[in-house]
Amino acid sequence: MDPSSIIVAIDGPSGVGKSTVARRLATRLGVPYLDTGAMYRAFGLKVLRQGVDPKSAPEVEALLAATEVGLRADAEGTVLVLLDGEPVEALIRTPEVGQAASTVAAYPAVRRRMVALQQRCGERDGGVLEGRDIGTKVFPGTPHKFFLDARPEVRIDRRYRQLLNRGEEVSREEVAGEVTRRDHRDRSRGESPLAFDASYTRLDASELSVDEVVAALEDRIRSGSLPTCSNAAAPPG
Ligand code: C5P
Repeated sequence: MDPSSIIVAIDGPSGVGKSTVARRLATRLGVPYLDTGAMYRAFGLKVLRQGVDPKSAPEVEALLAATEVGLRADAEGTVLVLLDGEPVEALIRTPEVGQAASTVAAYPAVRRRMVALQQRCGERDGGVLEGRDIGTKVFPGTPHKFFLDARPEVRIDRRYRQLLNRGEEVSREEVAGEVTRRDHRDRSRGESPLAFDASYTRLDASELSVDEVVAALEDRIRSGSLPTCSNAAAPPG
């Protein structure tokens, strides 16, 4: 399998563990890992920094025209996001930036810009890309499409622990509100909503460890099997 030709799409709601799974899977396959949410978060950060109203389309679009979102791979193959040349990974994981990202991600102009960059990156080097629209819009033709899901309480707990570990002062209720609002917006927007269809292999990660999820995805990719729904019978062999 030529790594540069592998595109793996992992989509799913927030807090399901897509980033951890995608990063490990990319290492195992020897391809770059691209966290596409980080690109929307980087632009969300700029919107907040500039005091632009995320709900104002003209203001957001004007700011987009004056913004450069770039990508650079580190030594481990993780693609880091640059906002106007500044590495912003350490600044984009807060709930506020997440909400701003989810609001601006609904604008077609913002999506066009990010999707074009993701496609350029993937076409050049292959990759494991995770987000909300990888299998529907960014690389709809890839045979390796996974929809990762988990029960809401599992996702909220995960996100809550993640934020506490980063030293954020948040309550579980706040996190539950943030995750619920963001998921609702991501699933209901008109432009590239998060949506499962039969071209994905769906995996419920509620009761699985990260290693188990990675192994399931890698098995599926290496076996070269055609994608199926999770409740369909696995192909023989
Ligand atoms: O994945 P993450 O939670 O970091 O993404 C932040 C936000 O960016 C999401 O809530 C979603 O609104 C947006 N996003 C998107 N399409 C992607 C990745 C993220 O709309 N491919």
